Amino acid sequence: MKLLEGKNVIITGASRGIGRGIAEIFADHGANVAFTYSSSEKPALELEKDLTKKGVKAKAYKSNAASFSESEKLVAQILTDFGGIDVLINNAGITKDNLLMRMSEEDFDTVIEINLKSIFNMTKAVQRTFLKQRKGSIINMSSVVGVKGNAGQTNYAASKAGMIGFTKSVALELGSRNIRCNAIAPGFIETEMTGKLDEKTVQGWREAIPLKRGGTPEDIANACLFFASDLSAYVTGQVLNVDGGMLT
Ligand code: NAP
Repeated sequence: MKLLEGKNVIITGASRGIGRGIAEIFADHGANVAFTYSSSEKPALELEKDLTKKGVKAKAYKSNAASFSESEKLVAQILTDFGGIDVLINNAGITKDNLLMRMSEEDFDTVIEINLKSIFNMTKAVQRTFLKQRKGSIINMSSVVGVKGNAGQTNYAASKAGMIGFTKSVALELGSRNIRCNAIAPGFIETEMTGKLDEKTVQGWREAIPLKRGGTPEDIANACLFFASDLSAYVTGQVLNVDGGMLT
């Protein structure tokens, strides 16, 4: 059964990793996918081609999620290109890890702007469309780190915890218009982001996870599928940990 037949979806940061996994599974479920990237043009254009081969409409857009004006222009362009928007997935994110003692102001600000300010930018940009159609699903990619904190990631943890507060507030504010907003808190997912860690640290994470493995982009994409589709029509303001039991 295709759960998103004919739905138009925006995914930020889908040139690789989790975003790419979401784009692929959503296309398999019949969704038209508009997605962004920041600098990885080649993989983004390859993904556009791969998704199109699945028989859906797909388009890559270079857009900095941290920029309010770029996000507004992006959404206007997607509305012109796709004719509507049903689902927004705020997935773009970065890390700039350091102990607080050594963290620069710039690294703190950059992570907050790309991870947290971006979801304000994009949610504002789609809000009018969702209000008019009295329907919409917004999914914010938080992290277990936003729920429990992590040494060496004060900037990242603050951004991801902020996303949870934003998610719950949007759910309360827009629920009466049938606009739902939920967050996913992935645990340790094996992508380029976590590929920067040394093998010993990675092995330590895997052993600490009750399901004894790192997650895959598909694990996260399947949770997104639930929140994007009518299977979750009565679910809003929630944070779903997709972490192999890490936070249990
Ligand atoms: P990734 O492999 O590093 O991919 C990040 C994606 O975000 C790329 O497509 C990148 O585009 C895009 N991006 C970065 N800065 C951007 C900007 N300013 N504007 C637009 N797009 C931008 O990361 P990932 O592991 O897939 O993570 C995806 C999301 O899940 C992030 O929000 C991350 O915090 C969250 N998460 C990941 C894990 C994990 O274990 N991997 C765990 C919890 C939460 P380019 O390729 O052009 O740079």
